[in-house]
Amino acid sequence: MAENPLQDLRGQIDEINLQILDLLNRRARLASEIGKIQQQMGTSFYDPEREAQMLTALQRANKGPFSNETISTLFKEIFRASMALEEKEARAKMRVQKHTPDEHTVITMPDGTQIGNGDFSIISGPCAVESFEQIDEVAAALAARGVRFLRGMGWKPRTSPYDFQGLGLEGLKIARQVANKYNMYIVSEIMDMSLISQMSDYTDIFWVGARNMNNGFLLKAMGQVRQPVILKRSYGATIEDFLYAAEYIVSSGNPNVILIERGIRTFEKWTRNTLDISAIALLKQESHLPVIGDISHSAGRRDIAVPLAKAVKAVGADGLMFECHPNPPVAMSDAKQQLSIPEMHALLDEITSSDKVLA
Ligand code: PEP
Ligand code: MN
Repeated sequence: MAENPLQDLRGQIDEINLQILDLLNRRARLASEIGKIQQQMGTSFYDPEREAQMLTALQRANKGPFSNETISTLFKEIFRASMALEEKEARAKMRVQKHTPDEHTVITMPDGTQIGNGDFSIISGPCAVESFEQIDEVAAALAARGVRFLRGMGWKPRTSPYDFQGLGLEGLKIARQVANKYNMYIVSEIMDMSLISQMSDYTDIFWVGARNMNNGFLLKAMGQVRQPVILKRSYGATIEDFLYAAEYIVSSGNPNVILIERGIRTFEKWTRNTLDISAIALLKQESHLPVIGDISHSAGRRDIAVPLAKAVKAVGADGLMFECHPNPPVAMSDAKQQLSIPEMHALLDEITSSDKVLA
């Protein structure tokens, strides 16, 4: 024993720490090899049976002084770290993942109008097309403010099958006519793959709603259309689920995807959903795709539209989506959240004049 036993023992601990470190990293490299094979096979990284087997073997081999509970806790932490590494490596391979901080997908429309180029884009229009007069009045007001993207929703996803379902193709054709009149682009929700061909002639940007975010077949089909696709986050989806949904479209051949955060379900009742501002920041950080904030379906009310719009802009979104109707109280859907035309003007005034404040 050396003169200073404490120093000697600490020296041995330091040495063991380095050995453990080396072993942990060797283990991590092996786990990452396994992760690659699992990804090729399309199987999940988490295998509860394998984890249970490893823990049982460790407990059998354990001679103490650590208890089996302590050994389990320590190794579970190691397993968790390995899985996080495998997931991180899998994410890094995703096409929607940003690989350099300045990587951005810019969506360019036929006349050169762009989304994701650093400007703040506005998408607006009524919840649903109800009549020519209704959408014409809104489009005229929006176009006068320089808004180029018009909601031209023919089909409406509704909670109850007895509620207004939209005018269907007739509504979309009306929207097309109005958009042509004011030199605007039509964004329109696609409910089902069977509608692709009939919608294609009238739609500039396809829109996949929150309820269809998990519809892999529709997402793959959206990979095959020539138009850009707006994808909304489901109210029950994690940010990772959302990015994987976008990955379906991009990996199926369509790089022009725009993400919309539209609020998630929480216990809060004063809003319809909770606008997840941190999701916008994280999506901008993790993905190169443009990100838009929907302040209508998230809040479900119009009285806080202005502060929410400011928040969306301040957090770094590429744009804003809100609904606008000539007479919201009598709207056939989402009457509580659509902005009137004067409210739309007030909101756009605020967003434009807040540039200096937010810069
Ligand atoms: C919409 O934006 O038209 C809509 C129906 O919203 P969500 O799919 O987010 O519910
Ligand atoms: Mn709506």
